[in-house]
Amino acid sequence: MSEALANLLNETRQFPPPAELAANANVTVDAYAEAAGDRLAFWAEQAGRLAWAKQWDQVLDWSNPPFAKWFVGGRLNVAYNCLDRHVEAGLGDRVAIHWEGEPGDTRTITYADLHRMTCQAANALTELGVTAGDRVAIYLPMVPEAAVAMLACARIGATHSVVFGGFSADALTNRIQDATAKVVITADGGYRRGKPSALKPTVDEAVANCPSVEHVLVVRRTGEEVAWTAKDLWWHQTVEQASTEHAAEPFDAEHPLFILYTSGTTARPKGILHTTGGYLTQVSYTAHAVFDLKPETDVYWCTADIGWVTGHSYIVYGPLANGATQVMYEGTPDTPHKGRFWEIVDKYQVSILYTAPTLIRTMMKWGDDIPAGFDLSSLRLLGSVGEPINPEAWMWYRQHVGGGELPVVDTWWQTETGAIMISPLPGVTETKPGSAMTPLPGIVADVVDDQGQSVPNGGGGYLVLREPWPSMLRTIWGDDNRFVETYWSRFEGMYFAGDGAKKDDDGHIWLLGRVDDVMLVSGHNISTTEVESALVSHPSVAEAAVVGATDPTTGQAIVAFAIPRGTTDTAGEAGEKLIAELRNHVAKTLGPIAKPRQILLVAELPKTRSGKIMRRLLRDVAENRSLGDVTTLQDSSVMELISSGMGGGKSDED
Ligand code: ATP
Ligand code: MG
Repeated sequence: MSEALANLLNETRQFPPPAELAANANVTVDAYAEAAGDRLAFWAEQAGRLAWAKQWDQVLDWSNPPFAKWFVGGRLNVAYNCLDRHVEAGLGDRVAIHWEGEPGDTRTITYADLHRMTCQAANALTELGVTAGDRVAIYLPMVPEAAVAMLACARIGATHSVVFGGFSADALTNRIQDATAKVVITADGGYRRGKPSALKPTVDEAVANCPSVEHVLVVRRTGEEVAWTAKDLWWHQTVEQASTEHAAEPFDAEHPLFILYTSGTTARPKGILHTTGGYLTQVSYTAHAVFDLKPETDVYWCTADIGWVTGHSYIVYGPLANGATQVMYEGTPDTPHKGRFWEIVDKYQVSILYTAPTLIRTMMKWGDDIPAGFDLSSLRLLGSVGEPINPEAWMWYRQHVGGGELPVVDTWWQTETGAIMISPLPGVTETKPGSAMTPLPGIVADVVDDQGQSVPNGGGGYLVLREPWPSMLRTIWGDDNRFVETYWSRFEGMYFAGDGAKKDDDGHIWLLGRVDDVMLVSGHNISTTEVESALVSHPSVAEAAVVGATDPTTGQAIVAFAIPRGTTDTAGEAGEKLIAELRNHVAKTLGPIAKPRQILLVAELPKTRSGKIMRRLLRDVAENRSLGDVTTLQDSSVMELISSGMGGGKSDED
């Protein structure tokens, strides 16, 4: 971005928190002033939410930036904090996980159960020679054993590296090798789209090239036939036979807890390293504050996969540190029918739902009548994470899932930040559809221009974090230089998030997508997000992706790919008419500068495996280049469809 990012979208709707939620909220407006008054004292107070075996001597050591140490000298055990202390407090019978398999089989796991299972896994791993500091790779479907495996590693001080179960053998190999993992925990497979989907063959292929791996623990989930190697051990023959007694030893607050490789949307995966005390403090606090989590009464459901940071922080560590009851679902949202999510909400009386814009837009595409067919009255709070949420998708979520009343918290954060950073507080903030609003108490975020100067209200630029935060990444595994280079070199003394953002007239923050995706049209920097949001604000559009394609006159020109809503007629002339209408709609909403040169109506968009739109590939299509690497795509056939539509089909150019 050579100049400030244009601020084109003007959204004026605003919604106060429901009175009852506000009156009983876990966190009130005072938290902002308190944290601003003494940020470190504020975080020290939040660290008091945890049980420490030894109190820290210093809240933050920032003497060697950007290498931070939080709660210096403190000692604690993460698994003890997530399990033992709840059981000791008499909550052993509380349900920790209502697990729902895709085929409809279920398991109810209490805190006492989860504690026992974790102790067994900790004993089994110890038996296999895993000690504190060793790395363990976890490649599992969404089964309770995934949480158990992570907690067991934490319990014995082993560093886990969870690899999303949809990744290829190559991706798994790279990650195992980079972390030199000693043990891999996997399963025969899991259920996806109505049938067993094998995992073990991928592990076999990977482990053959990973000499560091001594043992592979295999959970039996599908019961399908699997090949067996000398390194393999069944989970049920080892872990489930191990002693249920295990004393959790405390570790240093800066002991490595996990490595998580970023999804690789943009470049070679980076092993993001998180440590113990600061991480657990911030995930515990944010789950309490942002979700207003009431462990005695709420049923919480985060639909993310455990392979992403959202699954780490808001399925495993945040909710369990709070003693929450949650739902965990194995499969896809349309198996066996498109109402599966809503059926689960109704069945378990889910009160807090945390999901991603991609899912919300998919639900919009499927039609309003689907959620309308279920009783969603147990819900009281909705959350979103992963991408900018278009205002219209936000409104749809509030209207069709939230009955037109529930607060929606749009939470901005990253694998690197470890926990939620910018978000409304549900009992405090008057939310605006599409805005993540303000940094949480204790977080100092800003939007700056090219020179690192804070932009005024109404301006756009780069999102930065001005002060260290407890759950910040500590480094990139094995590559301190890349850590400094990637995040701390763009602006002096600030963390560079890589995302574009703007401040509205009230100073509220709107995320505008990745900096790499910003378009330069006739000298104006235009965010893909704003144009996409304008398209989605048209009643016939469910989802849109926008890219800048090289253009002889304007430098870059806007090319849009739009998915029509369920019942829209796009055949023949109707399609041409809709395209013309959409171009005018964008011009009217954002101004003529943002009018797309070309719009294609498509059935699907290329997405990463975490469900994010992959604009890089669409840029290739828009510039008639041969396709780049499609291996991280959720569904690579999508690209053939889109490219074939590009030549003729329903596009419009004038
Ligand atoms: P990679 O870094 O490998 O390309 P990734 O950035 O998609 O992958 P994550 O760490 O899971 O991996 O995602 C964080 C990014 O997701 C943020 O930097 C931002 O671009 C986007 N994001 C997350 N939450 C929000 C949100 N509420 N609003 C806007 N964007 C969001
Ligand atoms: Mg990223």
